[in-house]
Amino acid sequence: MLVPLDLAALAWKQSHLSPELALGWRLGRHAHDCFDGLDRVRIAATGHAHTLAALERLARFPEPGMVVKPAGLRPWDMLFYHEPTATALKVVCISRRTTLSPTAIELEDKLNGDDPTVADRYQEELDGLVSNIVNGNLTGLCFVQEIRCRVLDVEKSKLPASCPWCQSRSFTRLIEVDDHICCPACSGLEPDWLV
Ligand SMILES: [Zn+2]
Repeated sequence: MLVPLDLAALAWKQSHLSPELALGWRLGRHAHDCFDGLDRVRIAATGHAHTLAALERLARFPEPGMVVKPAGLRPWDMLFYHEPTATALKVVCISRRTTLSPTAIELEDKLNGDDPTVADRYQEELDGLVSNIVNGNLTGLCFVQEIRCRVLDVEKSKLPASCPWCQSRSFTRLIEVDDHICCPACSGLEPDWLV
């Protein structure tokens, strides 16, 4: 299978080309294309170590290799935030299109068995999946939502008593996300990014 050179280099560093690695690379490239580079793009992601490694390889801001890995639950798998335009790309992956099928996982368990055709069938499944992640239609792999965010310049005394969405009272700033006004926690962005 032919893969782009920078992905091949990444796979070489990680010892092999896994679907998870390809996924991080594909979405990182997508964000790169959307924002005309990743020089001012903050990245946060959850998920497989290979996906994170691919994103770390592409990350440039605020320093090379910086990817936030949140400990708690998030409403996305990957988040890209372009600071100059306050635009975020929220990515939710479709796991049945980005991970091995149950059939392939069954084959994986039999790789060390007696049937010599298992390895070929497994490799074929794996190649098909990676190829689709690298070259397939992005809308078949994940949901990508573009969100406009803005930290509102409101005096503390004029802040509402509670967030209209979660009713939280413990916040010090308001965020405008598309047309909604909410607290930083409801914005879905990483709290440290909203300065
Ligand atoms: Zn809230």
